[in-house]
Amino acid sequence: MSTESAVTAWLATQQEAMLKVLEAMVNTDGGSYDKPGVDAVGRIVQDFMAAEGIPVEVIPQEKYGDCLKVRVAGGEALSSGNEKRQIVLMGHRDTVFPKGEPERRPFRIENGIATGPGVADMKAGLVMNMFVLAGFQRFGGAPGPLVGLFTGDEEIGSPEGRQVIEATAREARVVFNSEPGRPNGGVVTGRKGGVFSIFDIEGKAAHSGGNFEAGISAIGELAAKVTALHALTDLARGITVNVGLVSGGQSVNTVAPWAQGQIDLRYKEPADRDEVMAKIHAIVERAYVPGTRSRLAIRGEFLPLTQTPAAARLFDMYRDAAGESGLAITGEFSGGCADSGFTAAVGAPTICAVGPVGGKAHSPEEYLEVASLVPRAQAMARAILRLDQTGL
Ligand SMILES: [Zn+2]
Repeated sequence: MSTESAVTAWLATQQEAMLKVLEAMVNTDGGSYDKPGVDAVGRIVQDFMAAEGIPVEVIPQEKYGDCLKVRVAGGEALSSGNEKRQIVLMGHRDTVFPKGEPERRPFRIENGIATGPGVADMKAGLVMNMFVLAGFQRFGGAPGPLVGLFTGDEEIGSPEGRQVIEATAREARVVFNSEPGRPNGGVVTGRKGGVFSIFDIEGKAAHSGGNFEAGISAIGELAAKVTALHALTDLARGITVNVGLVSGGQSVNTVAPWAQGQIDLRYKEPADRDEVMAKIHAIVERAYVPGTRSRLAIRGEFLPLTQTPAAARLFDMYRDAAGESGLAITGEFSGGCADSGFTAAVGAPTICAVGPVGGKAHSPEEYLEVASLVPRAQAMARAILRLDQTGL
């Protein structure tokens, strides 16, 4: 039996085992800010790898979940010169949900649809990566060393994980990021970049009845800034600026002494980032209400995933490999950001959303199509086995 049939035949028998691991992961609470929780999800990965005889390197992180790097040997028999470069299977363990969510909404399966916090985004992708790695550990045949990278802070822009991701991607031959497949089964070949920032406005408190003239309204300033910031949106260029959170003020009868807003900038073209950020800075620094003072701080950032010719070759090969697993794959552009932008930005041919198919991420309606677990795992295994054909 060829390696391909050995690995894919084994994966075909693993749906129940995958669901067991997925259930344990979904029911383990792990929001991005909950380091013990995200590390507990990591222990499920570690235990699984230990049982498969696959070594795990823990890269400790200070505030957020540790990064885990697992390695499966491969490629020894090749002489292409590429055999030592690692093939990276990437995923994040953190979710966007508040503490206690798995108790309120535990893992369930009904009519072939699995639900629970993070079930698609992206615990199913982690489980898929784990089983693909285990398949190659059992049967060999990978055209190079495989590295599974499990990070812990993607949902907040990977403030700590980014370094590990970039270092791993610099050594990578290609990167598969197992974010959930699109509801139509498509994968993602392009993503917007994003900058998340926060601005604080200082005004001056005064009684709005007895001493109105002495006050300087930070909320008045906030309103002017929000209007100016939103006007930076240019849909034709794929640029959006959204103030998604605001707060401020002291009481209804006080001229507001402070206000705060949070900005989400998304863009397509790498060059647009600095141009729009300069405009955002100018709006924040300007005082529309005389006497106010404001400052801007960047809280998190994702780089865009742009499709290079090498990434296009990777996609074409993946699509053909997935076709043999019975999947019709299209490549899509997504406004959502992910760690795949970081790997693409350092030059690694990257394909994203190759995980099992699901949707409605970040909401209580998040779902996973259970029947997609095995074919997506098989598609990834086939794609790995055909890497040499791409010349990548
Ligand atoms: Zn995700």
